[in-house]
Amino acid sequence: MSGTITIYQWLMQAARQLSRVSEIDTHQLDAKILLAHALHKEMSYLITWPEKNLTDKILAAANLLLQRRLVGEPIAYILGYREFWSLKFKVTPDVLIPRPETELLVQWCLDKSGDSKDCELIDLGTGSGAIAVAIASERPSFKITATDYSKDALNIARENAKSHNCLNIRFKQGYWFDCVEDEQFDIIVSNPPYVAVGDEHLTRGDLVHEPIAALAAEQKGLEDIQHIVNSARKHLKPGGYIAIEHGYDQAATISLLMSAAGFVELETISDLANIDRITTGRLEF
Ligand code: GLN
Repeated sequence: MSGTITIYQWLMQAARQLSRVSEIDTHQLDAKILLAHALHKEMSYLITWPEKNLTDKILAAANLLLQRRLVGEPIAYILGYREFWSLKFKVTPDVLIPRPETELLVQWCLDKSGDSKDCELIDLGTGSGAIAVAIASERPSFKITATDYSKDALNIARENAKSHNCLNIRFKQGYWFDCVEDEQFDIIVSNPPYVAVGDEHLTRGDLVHEPIAALAAEQKGLEDIQHIVNSARKHLKPGGYIAIEHGYDQAATISLLMSAAGFVELETISDLANIDRITTGRLEF
C-alpha cells in the first residue's frame, strides 16, 4: 500500500489481506487495532476520521504492523501488551499471553482469602506476572511470592509489578517449589503448562508464537500439574488451599491426584464458555 490513502481505505485493504489468512477470523478488528496503534490513538478515532489521509510515516508504521500480523504474530506481541483484570500487562514472546479465563484463578483466590490481611500466597510459573500482580493490586497487604523457571519471564513479571506499584510481590527463579525450600503458604495458585506435547493446537494461531515451555507438558499435559499437586502438601499451612488451571478434559484426573495427595473440599469451576477450567482443593487442619 502506497500513495495517498485514507484511514478508511487502509482499513479496508488491511482487512482484505487479513481475511486471506485462515488462522485469523477477526480481520476488521485486527486492522483497526493495528492502525490505531500506529497512530497512537484510540480505535474511536478511526471511526470519527475515516477520510483523513495517513502520513507517509504512519502508513509505513501501519504496514509494518500489518506484515507482522499477516505472518501470524499474535496481536498482543505486536502491541507489546495485553489487558488482564483491567490492568495493562507488558508481554513479549518470553511469556504466555494472559487469557481472560485465568481471571477465574484470581477471583477464586480473592474469595477464599476472605478478610485475611496477611495471606501468604505463591503463584507458580508466573510468566507475565498476571495472576500475582492482579491479586497484589487488590490485596496490597498480602505477602505474594511469584516464581518462574525462566529468568526472562521473571524480568517481564517484575516490570509489570513495578508498573502497577505492587510492592508486596517477591520474585524467585526456579523449578516449581525448588526456590522456596521449606516455606509454607496459605494459598498455592498456578496456571502451569497443560497442553499435551504434540497436541495439534500447538501448531495453530497464537500458540505457535508463545513459549512452548509455558504451554506444553509430557504425560498428556499432566506432568507439571502432577508434580505441583504432589509437592504442594509440604508447602501449605494446615487448612491451606491449592488452585490449578487446566485443560478441558483434565478435571477428573486432577481431582484424583488431589484426593490421593490428601486434599479435601475438591471443586472444579467452569469458565464462561462452560469448560472445566480450574480445580481446587484444601489441606485438612
Ligand atoms: N489455555 C491455554 C491455551 O490452550 C494454555 C495455557 C496453559 O498451558 N497454561 O490456549
